[in-house]
Amino acid sequence: MAAYDIVTVGGGVAGSVLGKAMAERGYRVLIVERETEFKDRVRGEFVFPWGVAEAKHLGVYDALIQAGGHHPKYWTDYAGPDPLPSRDFAEDTPQRLRGLCIYHPRMQDALIEAAEAAGAEVRRGVRVRAIEPGRQPRVLLDGHGGPAAVTARLAVGADGRSSLARKWGSFDAREDPPGNLFAGVLVENAPASAENSICMLNPSQLRIVLYLPQSDHSGRAYLGSRGDTAVRLSGGGFLSFLRECAASGLAPGLLDGARQAGPLATFDGAESSVGHPYKNGIALVGDAAATSDPTWGQGLSLTLRDIRALRDALLADDDWDAAGHAYAAAHDYYYDKVRTAVSWFTQLFMQPGQEADALRARALPQMASDPFFLPDTLIAGPDLAPPTPEYRAKLFGERH
Ligand SMILES: Cc1cc2nc3c(=O)[nH]c(=O)nc-3n(C[C@H](O)[C@H](O)[C@H](O)COP(=O)(O)OP(=O)(O)OC[C@H]3O[C@@H](n4cnc5c(N)ncnc54)[C@H](O)[C@@H]3O)c2cc1C
Repeated sequence: MAAYDIVTVGGGVAGSVLGKAMAERGYRVLIVERETEFKDRVRGEFVFPWGVAEAKHLGVYDALIQAGGHHPKYWTDYAGPDPLPSRDFAEDTPQRLRGLCIYHPRMQDALIEAAEAAGAEVRRGVRVRAIEPGRQPRVLLDGHGGPAAVTARLAVGADGRSSLARKWGSFDAREDPPGNLFAGVLVENAPASAENSICMLNPSQLRIVLYLPQSDHSGRAYLGSRGDTAVRLSGGGFLSFLRECAASGLAPGLLDGARQAGPLATFDGAESSVGHPYKNGIALVGDAAATSDPTWGQGLSLTLRDIRALRDALLADDDWDAAGHAYAAAHDYYYDKVRTAVSWFTQLFMQPGQEADALRARALPQMASDPFFLPDTLIAGPDLAPPTPEYRAKLFGERH
């Protein structure tokens, strides 16, 4: 039976970046990816500055730029009809980096190619059927040549938001109650500027509309909604999508004449996460470890942070069981900070009810006069901009 140091279930962003990081240090890596071709599944296409910094740490930033990654100059929030002052993250984040827009399937292609070029073995069109946990986990494959099995020092569940590796490893997942719905579609021929990422927050309707431009007049439009006005659109609902974006207050003209350039799909935003994502020879990374609410765009940055944390733990300790536990403890620490910030944003902008209305009445005027009233966790990340008790006290009007 073939033996590897690492076998990843999945060759999306998580599996490929880990594969590259470990193969280039001489470890024997197998990446198993069931898709023979990456398609638009309506996923993340904006990486906030803290995730861009992670991509640089991991040595994949240049590959993302070569794959068409584009840095719009500005980020503009609307918290009502008028824009707040635009931000240039290259000027006002500790990383001094702008966010990155990139078409997701092209990003996946670039990263899996980078992993292969670094020496990882990649098997496409092969599905992992199960993992048998243990000191030397066995990974069972269903491929072109029929069933097969390989062993690894570490099996890595990088199999996304519907992860089966969670089940194979007997991990307990924490599922939040249903919350936001989040729809997205690729558009082309939009008159919106390629230099401005737009985030239109509309707390009076519990809606959010985002437009994240690529350099070529295409871009990803997202609509988040909640409560009585929640919108679940898919398939041929593009015109309804545009109408709903306009009704949610999207700046007039931004998407006039835009054409649909990919599938339209809606996802439940409720977070689903595993506490301590390592057990018995199996580590979970990316969405398999924690699927954060896509409304706040943290998944790609978290995924890259996971890979750095796991890579560093594995390189620091030859006992990979101990390294797996060290990774899981690190994961819980930074994920908890992101989750806290996400929950504050959800309460402020998307939560129905009197308590949330009172919070908005107190906090939104302060936010309009102080651009750093809320912590910058979602932009500058959990390490450099954590959601501290001081921020909590300010936001919720509590004594600190
Ligand atoms: C609508 C939406 C919008 C989002 N917007 C943003 C955003 O703007 N910014 C942001 O940072 N994040 C965003 N995200 C989140 C982001 O897309 C994810 O966090 C990220 O793609 C996770 O990558 P991953 O590699 O963990 O999982 P995936 O990308 O899902 O990759 C998993 C891979 O595993 C493969 N696989 C699964 N099971 C098996 C198996 N048994 N055998 C073999 N292969 C298997 C799959 O084919 C897939 O290629 C968004 C998510 C959604 C749904």
